[in-house]
Amino acid sequence: MKTLLHVQGLTKDYGNEKAVDQITFTLNKNTATALIGPNGAGKTTTLSILAGLLRQTSGTVVIDGDLKGDSRKEIGFLPQYPQFFSWLTALEFIEMVAKLSGLDGKFTKSQAVRTLDFVGLGDVKNKKTGTFSGGMKQRLGLAQAIVHKPGLLLLDEPVSALDPVGRREVLNLLKELQEHTTILYSTHILNDAEEMTDQLLFLRKGQLVEQGSLKEVRDKYANPLFKILFS
Ligand code: ATP
Repeated sequence: MKTLLHVQGLTKDYGNEKAVDQITFTLNKNTATALIGPNGAGKTTTLSILAGLLRQTSGTVVIDGDLKGDSRKEIGFLPQYPQFFSWLTALEFIEMVAKLSGLDGKFTKSQAVRTLDFVGLGDVKNKKTGTFSGGMKQRLGLAQAIVHKPGLLLLDEPVSALDPVGRREVLNLLKELQEHTTILYSTHILNDAEEMTDQLLFLRKGQLVEQGSLKEVRDKYANPLFKILFS
């Protein structure tokens, strides 16, 4: 399998506190990896560093040369609490993001329409984003993260605001996306990782306490993982 991203000794200090403490992992191309951990484990900090929004204190992030040109444009990022311009329609907003991501102007509208259809917002594409519910905003956030077809998709709790049906639908979308991109997404719910995930990274108090496939981790811990890892 081809490596897309290698993270080595990544650390982020806030004063005396280590939000992320010496974490090392690799993402292979066209895989989905879940970054699992309780509140405050360091998930958002890790994803923000990888997305280029936050500078690490130490450690390295090496993105494979396959991500050509400006590697940041090859990354899609869904923040935990995505923000939109409330006065724009969903279509206007996604088209704007597509333009800012460097997509050829001739294709931005059709690509925006396709993307909104894909995330299940086709019927409301002409509604102002300020009228959207939490779940719709999360789908819109996913649309803005994927509209430029990034090679690496970083998603901070992509399903946490969704009801069970929406959760399943978005997880299915991620499964489809995985054929074209590499996904790292955070969650604090192990069930979200069950079906679509190739690799689990367990963060706790900034440290990577376990990593491997679901099967590997299951075999290692016969007992429920949460008891062991999150107590
Ligand atoms: P959650 O599931 O609650 O979103 P998380 O796993 O995403 O949590 P982070 O938001 O990365 O965790 O936070 C990791 C640690 O870093 C926490 O202890 C948090 O208080 C601390 N932290 C995060 N941002 C800052 C900041 N700007 N200044 C100081 N401490 C911070």
